[in-house]
Amino acid sequence: MPSKDYYKTLGIDKNATESDIKSAYRKMAKQYHPDLNPDNPQAAEKFKEVNEAYEVLSDKEKRARYDRGEMDFDGANYGGFNPFGGGGFSAGGFDDIFDIFSNFMGGGRSRSSSAAYNGSDITYKIRLSFLESCKGCSKEISFSRMEKCPTCKGTGAKDEKSSKVCDKCNGTGQVQFVKDTIFGRSVSVKQCDACGGTGRIITDKCKDCRGTGLVNKKKVISVHIPPGVENGQVLTLRNQGNASRYPNGFNGNVLLVIEVEPSTVLKRENLDLYVEVPISFSLAVRGGEIEVPTLNGKYIHKIPEGTKNNEVFRLRGMGIRNERGSLGDLYVKVVVEVPKSVSKGDKDAILEFEKNMSMRNYPNQQKYNEEITKLYK
Ligand SMILES: [Zn+2]
Ligand SMILES: [Zn+2]
Repeated sequence: MPSKDYYKTLGIDKNATESDIKSAYRKMAKQYHPDLNPDNPQAAEKFKEVNEAYEVLSDKEKRARYDRGEMDFDGANYGGFNPFGGGGFSAGGFDDIFDIFSNFMGGGRSRSSSAAYNGSDITYKIRLSFLESCKGCSKEISFSRMEKCPTCKGTGAKDEKSSKVCDKCNGTGQVQFVKDTIFGRSVSVKQCDACGGTGRIITDKCKDCRGTGLVNKKKVISVHIPPGVENGQVLTLRNQGNASRYPNGFNGNVLLVIEVEPSTVLKRENLDLYVEVPISFSLAVRGGEIEVPTLNGKYIHKIPEGTKNNEVFRLRGMGIRNERGSLGDLYVKVVVEVPKSVSKGDKDAILEFEKNMSMRNYPNQQKYNEEITKLYK
């Protein structure tokens, strides 16, 4: 039997799932982390045990061997285990662990350091008519954004002599942050606090931007809205957002939030369109032309004689065509509208018409009458 009970160390039982193990580890590692327990050798020892247990139990293969009692993890095998150096970790485990640590250590290392140097995003709501959202359109949008100050070309300095290379970071904008822990040395890179990450110290500020290097400008751009966008969809206009205050940073993005004004006549689902057309019962009987709204104007559709109430006609390819070439259909549902408050003369005419109808024209009524008769036999 292994000399150590890793399950007990993490406070879980033998049936624990991967996520149980991870969450138990997060909890324990946080509780006993040396940074949070300075001058507490017991916590440090416990932290080491917790890491060792996690190292084994989080690895399927190692866990299986441990469960079978094949490995004696008495510490010797894992001597020199260093959570910061990554030496003892499987490739998958390391990222997880780093995430866990950066969560409560205030982020020792920025994982996407370049993104942090880009300008911020701008959210812009754009309202489209129903047809515009289906067919796509071009729109001009007007908004304010931060741009590099033209006076100082974004440096923030009054002139070339008004700034110098930052002593603290030698112009790199970054400083190394070294920390010794009982497990080894942890090195992380942080933005230089002396120059704010720009690499230069300004001695005399540009008046137009007050040393920030950025000014607020109104911007008008033309945007292409592809056909088939939906309400709530967000389109990203790359690098059209606020400029960065760092020399090598990109502009942020403009996040275009689509708002579609719904149509009272046409409804849509994905690329298909739906319309309900009210017709008279006379037209349903005789058949004939109905007017249907499409994305390209009104369209005359012929319905056959004896069209039923709620009958649906599918007009292929008359829905939305997206930019990938997929094409939807238009579904036309006819709903018979029964006339209300007709004159005595009209009623007589309808009665005359009914008198001439044979029951052959009403198979449903005929069947219904038969069923009722059967019911009381
Ligand atoms: Zn300026
Ligand atoms: Zn600096």
